[in-house]
Amino acid sequence: MPQSREILLQGTIIYGDDFQSLDGYVSLQDGFIKEFGTGHIDADFEGIVCPRFVNAHVHVGDSAFKDPPFLPLSDLVGPNGLKARLLAETPRELIIEGMRRSLMEMVNTGTCAFADFREGGEEGLLRLTEAARDLPLLMRIFGRPCEGELNTPESCWGLGISSTRDHDLDYLKTVTASARKARQALAIHAGEAARDDICDSITLEPDFLVHMNRADESDLRSVARANIPVVVCPRSNLVTGVGLPNVKKMVEQGIMLGIGTDNVMLNSPDIFEEMHLLVKALLHDDRQVFKMCTLNSAKIIGLDQRLGSIREGKEARVMVINRNSDNLWGSRDPLASIVRRAGPSDILAIF
Ligand SMILES: [Zn+2]
Repeated sequence: MPQSREILLQGTIIYGDDFQSLDGYVSLQDGFIKEFGTGHIDADFEGIVCPRFVNAHVHVGDSAFKDPPFLPLSDLVGPNGLKARLLAETPRELIIEGMRRSLMEMVNTGTCAFADFREGGEEGLLRLTEAARDLPLLMRIFGRPCEGELNTPESCWGLGISSTRDHDLDYLKTVTASARKARQALAIHAGEAARDDICDSITLEPDFLVHMNRADESDLRSVARANIPVVVCPRSNLVTGVGLPNVKKMVEQGIMLGIGTDNVMLNSPDIFEEMHLLVKALLHDDRQVFKMCTLNSAKIIGLDQRLGSIREGKEARVMVINRNSDNLWGSRDPLASIVRRAGPSDILAIF
């Protein structure tokens, strides 16, 4: 098979699983990272070279209706809430168009992989597959059994549960057991509106929990002890007024943390924006925040062997950030500048 041309990227490389800023180059070939080296070469692109983002929790299904009034969580996304009513009355093609626009927005804002909480059974899956056609994104779909069924559709990567509060615990034990049997992962929204669903969620031994903004210290200790990762979605928590997660405490407890942008109806699926809020309001640690948005989120959705950091042999899902943009000119710490202020307009190239 003929090899594709080698692509050479020069500058500050955010290299390896500990995201060191190193001056040098990386070469990409046939969709993989071939080599990292120091020294100067004749490159195709020059700038800050970093891994692309992973969005570990999003609902793209409600992309056709943006920015609803500020309402309590249950009125927005509860079983009979605004989202459900809008979905029921919106034509199929508009819902798919909305999803496709969101997926393109993800690509253009540097995301290369995402996990979607999918509703609507097989038809919901068909819609997402149709929306994602030909787009360079890796998807992990967390579906749900259809009404009256116990099995999660088999093309789903996992089972996604809205909250243990919404179902009988025996039913949940049955559907999670059948998902396990089908080798599907399990993710649960927990501690979002209140902390009363956290204990049951831990009992189900999920692969990760989403939100945990209402968790107290004892909840976090239990989650840490059970070694369950958490995906936080702080912008979503702000819009729904449920309070922010104690990310600092989660890190201190040694909980593996990823990031998600949650419902597109509430927030753009742009990881830069989530990253800015996270580092400024919740965790003054550039490296840890960047890791949450890349390698950790990749690990949580089972993609860390393939992407999430720049290492030889991994997939070439990287981007080049323009260090000379009006926004970034004068940057002394490339990683800090990406995490605190870079945006989509600073992206020079995406691979
Ligand atoms: Zn969610």
